[in-house]
Amino acid sequence: MIIDLRSDTLTRPTPGMKEAMFSASIGDDVFGEDPTVNALEEKAAGLFGKEAALFCPSGTMTNQIAIRLHTRIQTEVICHKNSHVYLYEGGGIMSNSLASVKLLEGDLGKIIADQVQAAINPDDVHAPETTLVSLENTMNKGGGSIYKLEEIKPIRKVCDAHGLKLHLDGARLFNALVETGERPADWGAQFDSISICLSKGLGCPVGSLLLGSKADIKRARKVRKVWGGGMRQAGFLAAAGIYALDHHVDRLKEDHLRARALGEMLSQQNYVSEVYPVATNIVIARLEGMAPEDWLKELSAKDIKAVKFGPDLVRFVTHLDFGDDQLEEFGRRISVL
Ligand SMILES: *Cc1c(COP(=O)(O)O)cnc(C)c1O
Repeated sequence: MIIDLRSDTLTRPTPGMKEAMFSASIGDDVFGEDPTVNALEEKAAGLFGKEAALFCPSGTMTNQIAIRLHTRIQTEVICHKNSHVYLYEGGGIMSNSLASVKLLEGDLGKIIADQVQAAINPDDVHAPETTLVSLENTMNKGGGSIYKLEEIKPIRKVCDAHGLKLHLDGARLFNALVETGERPADWGAQFDSISICLSKGLGCPVGSLLLGSKADIKRARKVRKVWGGGMRQAGFLAAAGIYALDHHVDRLKEDHLRARALGEMLSQQNYVSEVYPVATNIVIARLEGMAPEDWLKELSAKDIKAVKFGPDLVRFVTHLDFGDDQLEEFGRRISVL
């Protein structure tokens, strides 16, 4: 048995999810006639108290569409230097939106209101106009770290004071919410747009949602079409999304418990000098005296998979297909490394 902890995107649909997919009512979503896509969009928008939602093939697309909506050519986006929107989206802020980026530092991938305030460009001919702040929760590069709602409110205030939009890359937002117990609608109220991934911890094969105002989502639908993201009988995929929202949110807590146990096991390993605080389902281990490539090879010989996550970092992610049996087996395998 291979224990694959490279990502929470590697999961396969559960039997219940497959059944929901096979029995979905479908239509042509580019015509707006797929009842299951429409139901998913309404359900997600309602959950977060937003007016509308758009179902897209990926979280990269939902983030990039949001950035396109909230910027113009030669304007600037503020985000953490380790943000997915900057690091892992192929420079899309530049190529899709012709916008600049200001990168901020911050512990565990998080930024605070004072930093945002200081990063807003003056009204000066030399500087691009700041139009957007983009946050990420949970923060992948921060080891699945969590923003609390109380940390967001001061940032929202700065945005309001300067006419900036606020976007949330919430690829793993539900991982944060099941830990804090905060309500989705309270998060919806703080942001102009939120991107949610169904294909991460929630276990869907495909799909992300962009949530926002009616007017923004109407524009977003056009951008999605132009970028080739208009899907036809997408109800098969949307059905998986509805199933996941109904059945796979609360269980994220189990992934977090297993991640904590994993973190403890890893911290006892030779060559592991530090494990980032485990807040959700991501475990990042720092190595000393061994290169990540070499450690990954040793792990691979024991049928354990993880990924290099920096010059001396390795990342493990727990997920729907990693149960207590796999956790125990993981412990047995690494105890003899
Ligand atoms: C996975 C992820 C995305 C979107 O990724 P896709 O693979 O394009 O769906 C966006 N942000 C974060 C933080 C992610 O982890």
